[in-house]
Amino acid sequence: MMRLNEPKYSFEQTIDKCVDGITGNAGLKQKLTFSKSDLTPLEAQYLDAVATGELYTIPPINTDGDTDPVVINTLKKSELVKIYDQYFVTKGKPARKIYDALLNAAKEKCPFCGGIGTPRNLDHFLPKAHFPRFSILPHNLVPSCRDCNMDGKAQAFAINEEDQIIHPYADHNRFFLEQWIFSTYHTDNDGEPGEFEYYILPPEDWSEVGKQRVRKHFEDFDLAKRYATKAAELLGTVLQQIGSLQKLGLDNEDIKTTLLQPGIDASPFVNHWQKGMYQALMGSLDL
Ligand SMILES: [Zn+2]
Repeated sequence: MMRLNEPKYSFEQTIDKCVDGITGNAGLKQKLTFSKSDLTPLEAQYLDAVATGELYTIPPINTDGDTDPVVINTLKKSELVKIYDQYFVTKGKPARKIYDALLNAAKEKCPFCGGIGTPRNLDHFLPKAHFPRFSILPHNLVPSCRDCNMDGKAQAFAINEEDQIIHPYADHNRFFLEQWIFSTYHTDNDGEPGEFEYYILPPEDWSEVGKQRVRKHFEDFDLAKRYATKAAELLGTVLQQIGSLQKLGLDNEDIKTTLLQPGIDASPFVNHWQKGMYQALMGSLDL
């Protein structure tokens, strides 16, 4: 739910760099070279599907009866996975430059959880075990933190429209520009700090599918709990600030203007946990 700039490298450039890096395996090098013209058109197909919310319609490979089928041209599943593992990820290989560029583009912020985690590696949005033809497609490679860990999600992928999580590179703008994550501050007024409850409230004019997709994203990445934890860490500081302003004689409206609204305005993007937190505190002052 945090937008990432689209990869600067094309599928074709990535394939070329992988070909350059294949040493001591002339057969694989030749196969990848010959398959390039079959692979490269898949990039446009993938991007069109993301843009229209139809990535789920791209079928996984059928492994019934053959655990290592030919996937495209003469390339087998195991070979496409090997190209990723040995000639794309491996440090010192020419294509590693593309891996690093994709990882660094996230600027230490995981797009799936909205930057609360730091990406340590790239994950396959469509898992390579089921979609090996996208094993080195830059748009399918997304920086992900350990907690979000796409590859660790039991190789899950959506088979229904409403189960698709938000794609950080190319999904519809509404998911990034319109607020759908909110929070409420619960306090029992006994002087103890309260608790934040994060929830989704997508704009009413969204389609049912759009609403279900953000719910799926929110639940899959456990964002209610993770955001409440982040907000709780900052709460003590903000409550102290509110207390100081009250001692200075500021009323609730002043506190909103001088502290809470600037907190909302300083949030890095519209669905950032910090925005929900300051909004919730603002609401609690009205009670
Ligand atoms: Zn994350």
